Amino acid sequence: MPFFALEFKMTMSGLKTLKLEDPSNIQWELKLKCSSCGDVPDRWRYVVANESEPIPGSRGEANYIEKCKGCGHLNTLSILEDCFKPYVEDKNESWQPVMIMDSRGFEPVGFGQASNWIADTNDSSSTFNEISFSSSEDWADYDSQTNEPVSIENFESRFQVVKNPHKK
Ligand SMILES: [Zn+2]
Repeated sequence: MPFFALEFKMTMSGLKTLKLEDPSNIQWELKLKCSSCGDVPDRWRYVVANESEPIPGSRGEANYIEKCKGCGHLNTLSILEDCFKPYVEDKNESWQPVMIMDSRGFEPVGFGQASNWIADTNDSSSTFNEISFSSSEDWADYDSQTNEPVSIENFESRFQVVKNPHKK
């Protein structure tokens, strides 16, 4: 049962730290492939870390459960609520993990829109909220304290298999 990290890469200008205001309640827009049969439905699935449902035939719960229409396999996915990470300016333009999923049967293959992120700046006490961006949509604003533009451009995302972060 692999763990996948969602990683971001972007060009942040004028911003120091980009993070989620309320990570447990954010809706993650994902495309998910069935590992058993390889089927990738061409639609977004929305996964929220603090919304769980019981897994049929098990005592466990998961944030997202779906029986594959192709092969009938019951696939589940959960977001680890203690593993959210900010995107930081120190490693600007490098891949940085922002979220980790425990996936049983799904392989995440696509990430849509990032919404409701907040950022603070390098040179002033300004903060920005309700930041949204995607691979096709940059974000830009203006720091009224420094009279400098701030922006997020060249956004890319990917998924990487990682070790169980709870296993030391
Ligand atoms: Zn399948």
